[in-house]
Amino acid sequence: MICLFDRFPVLGQTLPHVDLGEFPTPVRKLVSLGDLLGIRSLYVKDDGVSAPLYGGSKVRKLEFLLGGALRNGAKTVLTFGYAGSNHAATTAFYGDRLGLRTVSMLLPQPPADYVRTNLLLQLASGTELRPCSSAGTLLLDALRVLAAHRMKDGRFPEIIFPGGSSPAGIAGFVNAAFELKQQVEAGILPAPDCIYIAAGTMGTAAGLLLGLRAAGLPTEVMAISVLPGKYVNADRLAAICRRANAFLRRNDGAFPVVDMSGRQFHVRSGFVGTGYAAPTPGGIEAIRLTRETEGIALEGTYTGKTMAALLADARSGALDGKTVLFWNTFNGRPVENAVAGQNYRDLPAPLHRYFEDPPEGTPG
Ligand SMILES: *Cc1c(COP(=O)(O)O)cnc(C)c1O
Repeated sequence: MICLFDRFPVLGQTLPHVDLGEFPTPVRKLVSLGDLLGIRSLYVKDDGVSAPLYGGSKVRKLEFLLGGALRNGAKTVLTFGYAGSNHAATTAFYGDRLGLRTVSMLLPQPPADYVRTNLLLQLASGTELRPCSSAGTLLLDALRVLAAHRMKDGRFPEIIFPGGSSPAGIAGFVNAAFELKQQVEAGILPAPDCIYIAAGTMGTAAGLLLGLRAAGLPTEVMAISVLPGKYVNADRLAAICRRANAFLRRNDGAFPVVDMSGRQFHVRSGFVGTGYAAPTPGGIEAIRLTRETEGIALEGTYTGKTMAALLADARSGALDGKTVLFWNTFNGRPVENAVAGQNYRDLPAPLHRYFEDPPEGTPG
């Protein structure tokens, strides 16, 4: 169900799209956690179950991005991320199912359990894995990979932006806002006063923000940054929104101009800790509390830090009397079967350390 296309039928003709997930994703009231925090109206929108086999927020973007690759007749898609990138793993998983070859260029990051899973998932998907030692050499490496595939396929691979945050990928989260609007109209939840959502490449928050305004919801977006403020900040988020807005209007003149000048969103950099994927005490507490009260499994890179921000705001009284929505963006489907029988030694050697080194902070 693509609510965006119901509202803007021309987009249904101009934007490529392929069904990968099951929408709408469920909304549920978090009674126990809400009681504990003194928030009477706390809800989760669970994109963890956005698809039956492998969920998470990236499925929304990839419906548009892989749809575009198919429409263009691509044979191979090339994308980028950190070693444990959910985006790269999701691209690999669904690319493989659509008969596309996938290439992931991966930068180093701190070790974590989900990094292992995501690497093995790419191995199982037949992905060509290209570890890169630093962002500085990534561009040159990418040009080499592009040239090699041009030789092999007779054409360049389709490039998918890091995090899937090109305007087309962002359309997936514009749609998500229209989906939420329908759930509000159906009485599943009151119109939220604010939404807490993790922000890395910011396409997710940008799409949501654009979609909320276009759908006529005044909800504030709390974009909880997982990267230093140099990369994730309000100016960049506004610029990404404006680009995506222009793209949607080029594809359907009926899509409104969304004014980004007001204070309708907050980019919060106070919960990153020492950097991307570095565990924080607040994140660890948030993961434990959410598991114990609601049985929801968060992780330390995105959703744990986002919930840590919500907890801090609740405890400061800033959320008193408000309807608050936590957007769970992390895959909630078990992937043991999908990675069973995969051996990390079949990965390129620079990636073995994620399986051989203990996770950060572990003694020994
Ligand atoms: C990618 C991702 C995000 C953030 O999305 P961006 O568009 O990169 O800001 C949030 N949560 C999870 C679990 C993700 O994988």
